[in-house]
Amino acid sequence: MSWKDFPKVELHLHLEGAAPPAFVRGLAQEKGINLDRVFDERGNYAFRDFTHFLQVYEAATQVLKTPEDYRRLTLAVLEQCAENGVIYAETFLSPDFCGGRDVIAWKEYLHAMKEAAQQAEAQMGITLRGIVTCIRHFGPDKARETAICAAETAGGWITGFGMGGDEGLGRQGDFAWAFDCAREAGLRLTTHAGEFGGPESIRQAVQDLKVERIGHGVRAIEDPALVDILAETGVVLEVCPGSNVALGLYPSYGAHPIARLREAGVKVTVSTDDPPFFNTTMTREYEELERAFRWGIEDFTALNAIAIDAAFCDEGTRTGIKEKLEQAA
Ligand SMILES: [Zn+2]
Repeated sequence: MSWKDFPKVELHLHLEGAAPPAFVRGLAQEKGINLDRVFDERGNYAFRDFTHFLQVYEAATQVLKTPEDYRRLTLAVLEQCAENGVIYAETFLSPDFCGGRDVIAWKEYLHAMKEAAQQAEAQMGITLRGIVTCIRHFGPDKARETAICAAETAGGWITGFGMGGDEGLGRQGDFAWAFDCAREAGLRLTTHAGEFGGPESIRQAVQDLKVERIGHGVRAIEDPALVDILAETGVVLEVCPGSNVALGLYPSYGAHPIARLREAGVKVTVSTDDPPFFNTTMTREYEELERAFRWGIEDFTALNAIAIDAAFCDEGTRTGIKEKLEQAA
């Protein structure tokens, strides 16, 4: 069967990282910005490894400058998501890129993105919520400023706080102030760990930042005691298999630990991370997981149920999405 129209919930998606290449190229042209080094000859994003990926990512985001750019970006991304059957998504938003962590500027960007999300919901039936995200390799001081932007706009559409960026720099605990600030503002927490960092980075994320979800977290598989802790405590992993394969963490979907983690009782979900960078979509993730592990409707229905339970939205929104998922089943 085709998984394109199967209703999906996606929890781990970076807004800039989901920018369709054609959209970024078009915007670069309008603004006279040269992005030759960002794309390969077929027009896809081109990078060699994770460090280079971060560089290309930041170069591509150079074209996104104004709230209006972000309004258009949000619409372009949601169009792609909706085309792949996504009915609910959460996206990481970076005040670093949206107004340089200035609260007043951030509110203008946020207003534009929310407006686009409302339009997409009305026209395409897809619901979006935002998770404000600090960038690890920018350091703890900038993370504090990001957390203040998050706290100032918490509630309603902004539902969570998280951290992305280069896991190699600093420790999770260095960012505790930012996470405490966000928690006190009522935001729910997630952080990238256990992607390039080993199991210890996941332990630190749970202990030092007290997050309820982990971005990736797949390297927990290297530590059976940690797998047991995750299964017992119900920490949810935002697993992005295609991203991990594209960045060389695992040689193939078949070698990816998502199925083993799931069998061990860990709550896993499926997302795309930065889909055009990794040549993927939610449809492709389902297809590859079906091929690798023979997962079918029951499996994906169960994964979506975990995802919507772990979503950071309010209960009314959750109930509405659950009804949509059940109607489709
Ligand atoms: Zn990510």
